[in-house]
Amino acid sequence: MPTELIAKYDARIPRYTSYPTAPHFHAGITAEMFRGWLSALAPTQELSLYLHIPYCEVLCWFCGCHTRGAPSYGPVANYLSSLKQEISMVASHLGKGTRAPQPIRYLHFGGGSPSILSAPDFEDLMGMLRDAFSFHDTTEIAIELDPRTTQPDLIASMARCGVRRASVGVQDLTPTVQKAIHRIQPFSMVERTITGLRDVGINHINVDLMYGLPHQTQANIRETIEKILPLAPDRLAVFGYAHVPWMRKLQNLIPEAALPGAPERWAQACLAREMLLSAGYVEIGFDHYAHPSDDLAIALSKGTLNRNFQGYTSDNTTALIGMGASGISELPQGYAVNDADIAGYAATIATNTFATKRGIAVSVEDKARRAIIERLMCDLRVDVAATATLHGVDISDLRNAYARLSEMENDGLLTRSGDIVAMTEAGRPFVRSACAAFDRYLVAGEQRHSRSV
Ligand code: SF4
Repeated sequence: MPTELIAKYDARIPRYTSYPTAPHFHAGITAEMFRGWLSALAPTQELSLYLHIPYCEVLCWFCGCHTRGAPSYGPVANYLSSLKQEISMVASHLGKGTRAPQPIRYLHFGGGSPSILSAPDFEDLMGMLRDAFSFHDTTEIAIELDPRTTQPDLIASMARCGVRRASVGVQDLTPTVQKAIHRIQPFSMVERTITGLRDVGINHINVDLMYGLPHQTQANIRETIEKILPLAPDRLAVFGYAHVPWMRKLQNLIPEAALPGAPERWAQACLAREMLLSAGYVEIGFDHYAHPSDDLAIALSKGTLNRNFQGYTSDNTTALIGMGASGISELPQGYAVNDADIAGYAATIATNTFATKRGIAVSVEDKARRAIIERLMCDLRVDVAATATLHGVDISDLRNAYARLSEMENDGLLTRSGDIVAMTEAGRPFVRSACAAFDRYLVAGEQRHSRSV
């Protein structure tokens, strides 16, 4: 890829895990509205649940998540009380005072580090969730793990509670890089965690890697992937480090001079891609890779791949309820975000009120644009006319995006045939730029998002 093209498209563009994107959420969405949205869900509506655990024992300096350090377990235990109260509130609104009847398709524990939970607390929380919601044999329960804090007794508890998938944070295995990001995690620790999970039957393993980290080189990427491949993860995510110190204060501890520039970031992403494709993984969108037998690869082949706040997913439920501080719900009516401040969240929940802080109601046009963006992000191809018809919206507004796509077309990054827009292989890494052309809310030159390359 020519350097000038990398520079040209190295803009800050949303990751499109939602549409409209989070910067456009506003305080007009209240707890009362969220309560109404929940109550309107049909008893047959399949649900996904997301539980946010906003604590880590030691904070990594690159981190962009809503989390804080918990040197002792006390704050975690207090937080769990609030979370349980919120679970009861959600279940009683869905079930009109009884157990929520809606079938649960997915349950995801994210953070922060859910591995900070003690084994008895995890089992207690799972027991409460099973009492409050309608779990089935097919419910997929997944959890994000930090190998530094994942204890064998927690792994055993997770197996007993039906956890089927674990995402293991690795990032990079090079000591100099780990020191620069304040995350010391030798390979033996990662290997022990993954082996321990498989030993108890948690067989679906995701591994998260990163490029663009301080002091990171292509040799580091190569060595990291060479060590990880024999562990045979089912999925790998390869995220570009997003340096946004004005939003994430800890990132100020990372010297900008140690960060690779755009051409080096590009080369690192390409190297990871080549290695994973050679190893037989299927490329999913622009930053995920899946074994051909994995649900993500199957969803891609069936055209049912989706995108939500966790990134690419085979989850196609239309109601995701996010609980915990900063938890985001995506309901048919719109998005609702909980207070990210843990004390504020807990104080509101203590009054038996949902901790909704912001959100946005989605219009029919938003839904049509969201569908276009989602298909582009997932399939790298979209039929704009068919989507407009499906959602009953006027196509002429959507066609305005074509003028904004013409430059990418001239640069060989996409093709347009009538109302069908398709990324070329060269354009795959720039798919977010194509999506931005359909984003009605995006302000030109906005600096709040991560770099596209
Ligand atoms: S363990 Fe994960 S969530 Fe916690 S600080 Fe590190 S990257 Fe962030």
